[in-house]
Amino acid sequence: LAQRVSRFGTTVFSEFSALALKHQAVNLGQGFPDFDGPDAIKEAAWKAIQGGVNQYAPGVGARDLRVAISEHAQRFYNHAVDPDTMVTVTSGATEAILDVILGLVDPGDEVVAFEPFYDSYDANIAFVGATPRYVPLRPPDAGHTTWWFDRDEVRAAFSPRTRLLILNSPHNPTGKVFTREELEFLGNLCAEHDVKVLADEVYEHIVFASSRHIRAATVPVLADRTVTVSSAGKSFSLTGWKIGWIIAPPPLRDAVQRAHQFVTFATASPFQAAMAVAMRLPDSYFQELTALYTAKRERLLTGLRAAGLQAFSPEGSYFILADITGYGFADDVAFCRHLVTEVGVAGIPPSVFYGPEHRHLGQRFARFAFCKTEGVLDEAVRRLREKL
Ligand code: PMP
Ligand code: GLN
Repeated sequence: LAQRVSRFGTTVFSEFSALALKHQAVNLGQGFPDFDGPDAIKEAAWKAIQGGVNQYAPGVGARDLRVAISEHAQRFYNHAVDPDTMVTVTSGATEAILDVILGLVDPGDEVVAFEPFYDSYDANIAFVGATPRYVPLRPPDAGHTTWWFDRDEVRAAFSPRTRLLILNSPHNPTGKVFTREELEFLGNLCAEHDVKVLADEVYEHIVFASSRHIRAATVPVLADRTVTVSSAGKSFSLTGWKIGWIIAPPPLRDAVQRAHQFVTFATASPFQAAMAVAMRLPDSYFQELTALYTAKRERLLTGLRAAGLQAFSPEGSYFILADITGYGFADDVAFCRHLVTEVGVAGIPPSVFYGPEHRHLGQRFARFAFCKTEGVLDEAVRRLREKL
C-alpha cells in the first residue's frame, strides 16, 4: 500500500449504500437520483452508439459538446467561453477536480477550502503532497439566516504558500449558495495573494427561489483566476454517465489539460454526443428540474420536522442537514449507523467531510438526500416517525 492511499478506507458513500442494501433501508445517503434523466438524452446516446461514435473522442472533448458547453455558459450566465481554448471534457467532476489540482498545485503548496468539504478534495490534495487549510462554514444562528463563514478565519487561512481556493456553490452538504458579495470578498483575497480558484458548480441548476446561483467565473475579480467545474450527473439526473467538464481561461485550461491527457486521455464518446443534446435542452427543462426539486425539498423537510428533527432548509443542492444532538448518540456516525440498521433509513454522517481539527462541528448533523421519488421519501419519513 502506498503511503498516499494508506489512510483511505472505503468512501462513506460506498459504505452506507452497502449498509442500506444489507438492511433493506431506504437510501437517502449517497446522492444519486432514483429516477433517470430525459429520454431525449438517452436516445441520443443510443443513436451515437448505433451510428458509430465508439472510438476515442478528441482528448479535450468532442467539439460539438464543447460548443454546447459554451452556448450553455452564454445562455445562463452571460459567460463568454471559447470552445476551442477554454474547455476540457472529463470523466465526471471527480476527474476534473483531480486534473485541476494536478495541474495547478505543487507539493508543499497550501489549498484553502471550506468545511464540510466534498470528500475527494481532501484525498486529491493529499495525492499531490499539498496541505489543506480548512475554514468551517457555520450553521444558521440568531445573526445569520444561512450557513456563513467568518471572514477573519478565511483571511487567516491564506499564507504565502496558498495556491488554490476550492469553492463549492451550491454547496454539498449544507445547501449554501454563495452570494455575489461573498464571492467578491473571496475573489479580492485571492487577487491579493495571487491564488487560483476551483469553482465546483455541479449543483448549478438545483437552486431554490430567493437564492440565485452566481457563476464565480463571472465575478470580475475572479474571471482570470477561476477554473469552473461542472458535470452531467446532477443537472440531467445521469450520475452514472460520468461526463464532466472544466471551463477556464486558456492558460489555466492548458494546465488542466496537461493533467487530463494522462489521467484518462479522453472520455466516453457516445455519452459526449448525448450531452451536447442535453446542454441544448430548452429553458423549460431546467425550470422543471428546479420545480421538481423544490417539491421534493418541501416534502422531505416537512417530513423530517414531523419526525422531530431540526432540519435546515437548503438554498441549493439536493441535500438537507438535520441537527441530531437531541438523540443521545456519541456522534453522527453512531446516529447514522443506528438509523440504517434499526430505523431502516440511510443518511450520511457529515463529520467525514471535516479535517481532524473541526470534525466535532460535523458530529451534530446527519445528511439526507432528497433526489428520490415521492414514495421513497414518504417511506423514509414513515420509518423515522415510527422508530426514531
Ligand atoms: N462535487 C460535488 C460537490 C459533488 O457533490 C459531486 C458528486 N456527488 C461531485 C463533485 C462529483 O461529480 P461527478 O459525479 O460528476 O464526478
Ligand atoms: N456526490 C455524491 C454525494 O455527495 C456521491 C458521489 C460518490 O458516491 N462519490 O452523495
